[in-house]
Amino acid sequence: MKQSVKLVAGNWKMNGLGASLGEVERLKAELAGQAATCRVALCPPATLVARMAQLCDGGPIEVGGQDCRAEASGAYTGDIAAAMLKDAGAGLVILGHSERRQGYGETSALVLAKAEAALAAGLSPIVCVGETLEEREAGRAVEVVRGQVIQSLPLALAGHAFAVAYEPVWAIGTGLTPTLEQIEEVHRAVRAAMIERLGLGAADQPILYGGSVKPDNARDILAVAEVGGALVGGASLKAADFLEIIRAA
Ligand code: PEP
Repeated sequence: MKQSVKLVAGNWKMNGLGASLGEVERLKAELAGQAATCRVALCPPATLVARMAQLCDGGPIEVGGQDCRAEASGAYTGDIAAAMLKDAGAGLVILGHSERRQGYGETSALVLAKAEAALAAGLSPIVCVGETLEEREAGRAVEVVRGQVIQSLPLALAGHAFAVAYEPVWAIGTGLTPTLEQIEEVHRAVRAAMIERLGLGAADQPILYGGSVKPDNARDILAVAEVGGALVGGASLKAADFLEIIRAA
């Protein structure tokens, strides 16, 4: 596979107030003084998307949402449409995070519909997949992840920029990570499923690893074959930690 530029994306989840933008200012200042070695993105809560996008206007930090509704507009109290994220300055959106698949019962069919909506609004989706601990212990990790990839990626993604994030559910926020061999095995399976679903054009789209990526394990994980970047939760909240991960890419 052609080695593309890696993408290191931070998922702030439900963390961050206006004052947290100071961390983004620090990150921006540090990145301004060095040549870009990878793409960098931050996905703050919806309340901060517009302010962060304004702050990051002109680069190099891209801004994304954490979810969107599949419908374009309507009576969906509390939800956010892809076009609203785009209008606020986002260029990306995380979809199908395990905290939504598990906490809100989101199916791969719904994730696919959301990815179609994101695409229609001009957003580049980061589609998350990953097995539970039970599924891994039953020897079903590859089978489960493969199924999620095939069922979550709309055919309309062919020819567009997007990413898949492999995030083992049991590794998110736990400090646990798979072995490098396990990461490689699943990433190779994700790549094969992406190509099976969307054709050879999908060979260049990045597959991010996510789940307890920290400054001290980032370099090893990012060097694994088929790891095209990282989706980082907790360690993206502090500029200093996130910067170390970016520098490892
Ligand atoms: C995530 O929520 O996408 C994630 C990877 O979290 P953490 O890095 O905190 O495990």
